[in-house]
Amino acid sequence: MYDFAIVGVGPAGARFARRAAESGYDVVAFEQGRIGEPLACSGHVSTDVWSFTGDDAREELLQNEVYGARFHVGGPHEVDGAGRDSYQFYKREVVSNVIDRVGLDRHLANLARKAGADVRDGHTVTAVDEREESVEVTVKGPDGTDTVEAKMVAGCDGPRSRVREALSLPEPDELLHGVLAFSAEDDPGDFVDVHLTAPKFFAWRIPRADAGVEYGLAAPPGAHVNRHFEDLIDGFDVEVSHRCSGLIPIGPPDRVTSRRGFLVGDAAAQTKPFTGGGILYGMTCADHAADRIDPDRPASLAAYEHAWRDDLEREIGLGHWLRRAYSLPEPVQRLGLAATAGEIGVHMDRPTSVASLEHLKAMLSGSR
Ligand SMILES: Cc1cc2nc3c(=O)[nH]c(=O)nc-3n(C[C@H](O)[C@H](O)[C@H](O)COP(=O)(O)OP(=O)(O)OC[C@H]3O[C@@H](n4cnc5c(N)ncnc54)[C@H](O)[C@@H]3O)c2cc1C
Repeated sequence: MYDFAIVGVGPAGARFARRAAESGYDVVAFEQGRIGEPLACSGHVSTDVWSFTGDDAREELLQNEVYGARFHVGGPHEVDGAGRDSYQFYKREVVSNVIDRVGLDRHLANLARKAGADVRDGHTVTAVDEREESVEVTVKGPDGTDTVEAKMVAGCDGPRSRVREALSLPEPDELLHGVLAFSAEDDPGDFVDVHLTAPKFFAWRIPRADAGVEYGLAAPPGAHVNRHFEDLIDGFDVEVSHRCSGLIPIGPPDRVTSRRGFLVGDAAAQTKPFTGGGILYGMTCADHAADRIDPDRPASLAAYEHAWRDDLEREIGLGHWLRRAYSLPEPVQRLGLAATAGEIGVHMDRPTSVASLEHLKAMLSGSR
């Protein structure tokens, strides 16, 4: 019997597999497709990402270094009363990195394998049966269907988690729909652009150096995401290709653990509500799980539930407040952005690190 059966080998599953294997546990991890594919993510992350990777990763995966963001109210060419078409927020040092996301997943999966985890791609988990003393996982692979038994199951299987359903754990509050595509423009820029044109969320433009420029947009279901995306592309008058889409869960739910199972990453809606980013939160929570969960002691699941909430619940709560600013009337947005633009002291994964709460309040109320 395995100690842990992990369903899904994205950043959260790969990180947990690696950490649990390094602790000496017997680990098997299943990924339904090829690791990292299909792409449905911008791979825009804080520089903290490198603390989760091997030494060689930065050179291999880094596409661009970002120093700040230009916020736009309205389309690409709209200006305010002072003739400004954007409001810049920046740091003097690198704020974030744009990385090869498919490469990141492969890199993390390889680290898990090196640590001793049995990582099997091309294997889809079709059922999870949680019992008193163990969990039975049914897996469909290239050689047919098989079952494996483990002391615990980790649901790292993304926003539409099958494990979450099998364990009767609550759904995320909301699933945003995100779309992105790439142009071949040569843009050496080091700022991302954020357009507050999508209902209740935003659209973005990310220069990716040799990998061209990415355009993306996310919004709640029913918001005609594809139409808003077409409008965005028309506004820039560019040709895009490699279009892809995915879901962004927003939470957190009340519970991500059961008797012998737990969720990590998007399956647990461990994301930033104001950006939709989940790579760093997912891996951070994978570490909390690996630090606390003992497969022989189901009671240890409660320690994981406490640990990740202690660490991130305030950040997520503040993230919900920040997201509200995307739905303010345009004149209020312009006032708030004009009043707060400039050099920032906030860490992109930790909104509570904002230099001053007054700064934040001013941003949300549209005045200083
Ligand atoms: C358009 C868009 C842009 C985004 N941009 C960013 C960004 O710039 N920065 C950022 O931090 N986050 C971003 N995100 C969010 C980010 O992609 C997720 O938070 C992150 O991928 C979560 O990692 P995970 O390991 O929890 O889940 P996933 O990466 O979704 O991995 C889950 C894995 O489980 C596998 N799986 C599912 N079901 C099964 C099954 N039954 N059996 C076996 N395997 C299964 C899937 O194939 C998948 O590989 C974006 C999301 C979208 C949609």
